Amino acid sequence: MSLHGDYDSQNIFAKIIRGEAPCYKLYEDDDVLAFLDVFPQSYGHTLVIPKRSAARNILEVDPGALSKMALAVQKLTRVLVAELEPAGVQVAQFNGNPAGQTVFHIHMHIVPRYEGDTLGVHASQKADAAELEKLQARLVKRLNG
Ligand code: AMP
Repeated sequence: MSLHGDYDSQNIFAKIIRGEAPCYKLYEDDDVLAFLDVFPQSYGHTLVIPKRSAARNILEVDPGALSKMALAVQKLTRVLVAELEPAGVQVAQFNGNPAGQTVFHIHMHIVPRYEGDTLGVHASQKADAAELEKLQARLVKRLNG
C-alpha cells in the first residue's frame, strides 16, 4: 500500500470506529476518536483519527475533518503534557508506505518524549494490557478533571 489507492473499510482503525475492534479510548466526540497506541514508541503514545472521513491520508482528507483532528490533537497533547510531564512531544503524520504509514486510515501520532529517549519511529513490542489500562484511566481522569 502506498500513497494512492482505494480506502479499505476493513482496516483496523475503521473497525475500531465501528466498534468491531477494541481500543484504549481516551476521547471521543462526533468527529474524532483518540486512543492509546498498542505498540507505543513512548509512554503515552496516542493516536487521533477522524471518524467520518474515509480518507487514507492527508491528500484525501477533507479540510473540515482535518481541522477537527488537529484541534483534538492539541487538546490531547495538552492533557498528555500536563499529566505525564514529558521533556518534549512529537506530533507526526505519515502518508504512504515509504513514509512509514502502516494503517491506511488517516491518523496523527502524539508521542511524548522523555530525557534519554531513543527516537524510534515504530516500536516492536506490544504494550502490556494492564499498563495501558492504568494509563488510560489516568489520562481519562485528567481529561475530565
Ligand atoms: P502509522 O505507521 O503512521 O500508520 O501508524 C499506525 C500506528 O497504529 C502504529 O503506531 C501502530 O502501533 C498502531 N496500531 C496498529 N494497530 C493498533 C490497534 N489495534 N490499536 C492501537 N494502535 C494500533
